[in-house]
Amino acid sequence: MIEFNADYFDGRSAERRAVRVRASDTHLHVSGQTVQVAHRIDETSVDTPLARLHRVLTLPDGTELHTADNAAIDALFGHRLPIATGLARLESLWSRALIALAVLGVCIWMLMVYGVPLLARPLAALVPVTVEQSLGRQALASLDGSLCKPSTLEAHELEHLRTLLGRVLVGLDQPQAITLEARNCKGIGPNAFALPGGTVLVTDALAHLGMSDETLSAVFAHEVGHIQRQHAMRMAVQTSLGALLVGTVMGDAASITSLAYTLPTVLLNSGYSRTMETEADEFAYERLREVGLSPSALGDALEALMRAHEKGEDSARQPSERWSDYLSSHPAVEERIRRARGGD
Ligand SMILES: [Zn+2]
Repeated sequence: MIEFNADYFDGRSAERRAVRVRASDTHLHVSGQTVQVAHRIDETSVDTPLARLHRVLTLPDGTELHTADNAAIDALFGHRLPIATGLARLESLWSRALIALAVLGVCIWMLMVYGVPLLARPLAALVPVTVEQSLGRQALASLDGSLCKPSTLEAHELEHLRTLLGRVLVGLDQPQAITLEARNCKGIGPNAFALPGGTVLVTDALAHLGMSDETLSAVFAHEVGHIQRQHAMRMAVQTSLGALLVGTVMGDAASITSLAYTLPTVLLNSGYSRTMETEADEFAYERLREVGLSPSALGDALEALMRAHEKGEDSARQPSERWSDYLSSHPAVEERIRRARGGD
């Protein structure tokens, strides 16, 4: 037999009467100093226990029993309690919520890995040239403020580099003007970058590497490929979309706004994807052929850069690994050299 202590309220006054309740098969027998009643269990309703310490039973005549004995109430009413099924439903809701959360996580991950790069291409194309150029200026300014100093190249050396770049651009349909900038960036070593907005940035170390004109042209053709395919802008859009997505899901607006300031650094630090490097290489083969040069020059360029970085001073190595465009091993440099030479 189930028994429990309760407080009895008659529904007319706030007076609380301590009672003992015994449950038979069909009835609740309530007994206290001034109360002796019995009511049918199947006509008694019971509240939901969620937010309360006390369970409330409403007897058929409207009087109430309040009790803290949850176990007794569950034992008595558990089989038909709406709350019992409610709790079960709540539990299944929880597990469903967890599953939904996991599915959401996977969806976001897929969106980041596959969706965002796919979206980045058409979105980058929508970005006005002026915005792209301003992003490029910011990137260059952030380099000038950190890793790079003004170039020490002679005017005629710079002029020669610009002439070589100009040759690679002959007959090219350029949506934006492509220009060359040189900087003395000791930590980066011999390298070239395509900044958003059409700037090819060349380090003094690259100019001093003693590359042939044809090899340098191949470097430029590769960088022009990055510019023509809007790789920097795509990276920027990709990064912002990713941050936007994460920021939206996590409700973190700060990460979205701060992105605008860190974008150039993110852009230069993370380097291009494997696909983008391949695209730029393929653009370069094609372009070199079109201007009457050999695509294998790109192989020579990659090899020269690889050797230079291999024997580069240790002080130069660490940043060059982060900053390197050519040597980021996307795809492996040897493979790219082989392809450049095989495609001749
Ligand atoms: Zn590249």
